[in-house]
Amino acid sequence: MHSTSQQSCQTNENGRALGPAHTPTPAGRLQALSTEQILERIDELLEVRYRSGDLGNVPDVLAETVYILLSLNTREAVYQRVYRALRSRYPRWADLASAPACEVEAVLEPGGLHVQRARYLKELLEAVREDNLGRGEGPGAEPDADLTLEYLRSWPDGDVERFLLALPGVGKKTARCVMAYALDRQSFAVDTHVERILSRLGLARSTGTKTDHDAFQTVVPLKLRKRLHINLIHHGRSVCAGPRPRCRNCVLVSFCSQGREAVSEDDGRPTAIDLFAGAGGLGSGFRSAGWRVALAVENERDAAQTYRANNPGTPVIEADVTALSAGDIRTHSPGLGEPHAVLAGPPCQGYSAAGARNPADPKNVLFEHVVRLADEMRAQLVVLENVPGLRRVNGVGFGDGILAALRTNRAAERHELVAADYGVPQNRRRLFFLARRSDLGTAPTAPPPTHSRDGRAGLPRTPRLDARLRGILELPPATAADPLVLDDGSLIPNATTMAHSPSVIDKISAIKPGQGPISYRRLELDMARTLVAGHRALPVHPWLDRTISVREAARIQGFPDDYTFCGFRANQPLQVANAVPPPVAKAVAEHLLGFLTCELQAPVGLQPQPGPGAAKT
Ligand code: SF4
Repeated sequence: MHSTSQQSCQTNENGRALGPAHTPTPAGRLQALSTEQILERIDELLEVRYRSGDLGNVPDVLAETVYILLSLNTREAVYQRVYRALRSRYPRWADLASAPACEVEAVLEPGGLHVQRARYLKELLEAVREDNLGRGEGPGAEPDADLTLEYLRSWPDGDVERFLLALPGVGKKTARCVMAYALDRQSFAVDTHVERILSRLGLARSTGTKTDHDAFQTVVPLKLRKRLHINLIHHGRSVCAGPRPRCRNCVLVSFCSQGREAVSEDDGRPTAIDLFAGAGGLGSGFRSAGWRVALAVENERDAAQTYRANNPGTPVIEADVTALSAGDIRTHSPGLGEPHAVLAGPPCQGYSAAGARNPADPKNVLFEHVVRLADEMRAQLVVLENVPGLRRVNGVGFGDGILAALRTNRAAERHELVAADYGVPQNRRRLFFLARRSDLGTAPTAPPPTHSRDGRAGLPRTPRLDARLRGILELPPATAADPLVLDDGSLIPNATTMAHSPSVIDKISAIKPGQGPISYRRLELDMARTLVAGHRALPVHPWLDRTISVREAARIQGFPDDYTFCGFRANQPLQVANAVPPPVAKAVAEHLLGFLTCELQAPVGLQPQPGPGAAKT
């Protein structure tokens, strides 16, 4: 839980230290992350997205220097082609240095600025030759040897940077690129993409018209520098473009006030606020049904990161819902009027059969804050999901209290939904409290099933669990596969399987499907019970002698294969197991479109209609 008290040092909305004249915003009060924490989250999100994809850099120091000089103000495909042509024409740098200028210009011409570039390159190589001769390196040691800068590898960072900056045509960006890529130093190079994105995020800024390289390098922790630089370039090219950033596709929107303002504008879709959002099962189901989740709130760092990584364009704040006001929410989503729905799946440990079942657990009354915020924001609908165990927790019932709280200003009903009725191979039962403002009509009914467990009612049959798990994920124990790389180069994240000792494997091998102790229960072949993650581990695979991977659990829950779970591996099973299965959420979301009172641009193919629904409980 993050502190909600005012910080003694002043921070901007991303928690970055500002000067004493700055007044902290409510956003800063709630999302008091340091600059380092924000950058570390940004680095993780961009790595999930781009996997520090190769930018074509070369390991040789002199070659990398030339490569970076050719890349300046030139498109990637063009400078890479020019570099290949240059290397093919002059396999030795010494040959390029002594070649006629007009000949070099002709090779460089497709990249533009070829006259100046030919001159810079020849001056650069001439300076390197002189240095080589003076130090007895390259041709200074062996007349036929090529020019080289490999001796820089043993120099300290400061000396390397000073040396490179003294070469003709080499500025700070080039020097730091060479240091990061060819010399593996912890330098942070700032190009236009890096400067633009970090400035928009409010994390660093040049004060004058020229790029202040040191201002940017100083804020980025050493361990992040190289990977973050690469991924920021990918992000600048594909999402955070110069004139028109695509903020609705941006995984960094949580940290960007400009982006949050842009994505909060009404785009014709119904809007939802997602509280206790977890890894995003409920929210992503609503998104896939055509809703816009304007803001999510999740206090747990790894779950918040998972939400961000998979739901670009939705800001996620790490905050305690009990400390939030409608004003705080609107600060993070400035264009939000009255949301169409407030969604919430409050923590269920107090109610859950897998938890302590303590009637006095303060978590049991978190629903009061969901109702309070829905009231403050005048939301049309409320969707509150929780475990059936809340009906009676060691003699104390909470279901009626939730209904009573909702019914103060709304018509509300509770419905018990079974995940298998919505295409999920799990007999997972959950209560959904669906409420609508009293001035707008009756309470929403339950969403009609989309699948049938026995193939009746003209519905498609719920897929079997074994069908979900067959194929590429049948990996042996202790396989490192995060991600699993397929033959076609595509990636499946979170497929790593656990290592078990030989004695545990022996024990597991004797367990039949549907049997076993709680810690090593083997899943049934056709339909799982509710998927639970006990003590950071998941159940045993239906036919392999190991526990299921996070990816397999995600498949059983109905997450798409590219939905990436963030944070340490040990923190991922609970994120998956606690999530609302997205197909269930999608069915609820589609059904609720029929209970809204407004003009909406419903996505093509959706025909929202109140259905007969399941029986009220
Ligand atoms: S939210 Fe928009 S402006 Fe901000 S980093 Fe993302 S794309 Fe750029």
